[in-house]
Amino acid sequence: MSKISRLFNIDCSEAANCCNKSQYEEANMYEKMQLLFHLAFCKTCRKFSAQNKKLTQSLKKSNLQSCPEEKKQQWRDEINQQYVRDNA
Ligand SMILES: [Zn+2]
Repeated sequence: MSKISRLFNIDCSEAANCCNKSQYEEANMYEKMQLLFHLAFCKTCRKFSAQNKKLTQSLKKSNLQSCPEEKKQQWRDEINQQYVRDNA
């Protein structure tokens, strides 16, 4: 294997990781290139990447509202209380 292909040789789990990151613009240039290289010969990850893109787009389209902080706090309290009861 050449030096270059070793540099870009990532396995499917790493590719999935890069794919997720790039959906959220968190991947750096190197990771994006690794991902593109992997997608070039891995059919499974191409499929995964396409589905991932679709999911992200539909999430954006659905205009999700984030949960207000007080509601989250309420859930946390409820979970804590439940936890205390279960472990008493
Ligand atoms: Zn793959």
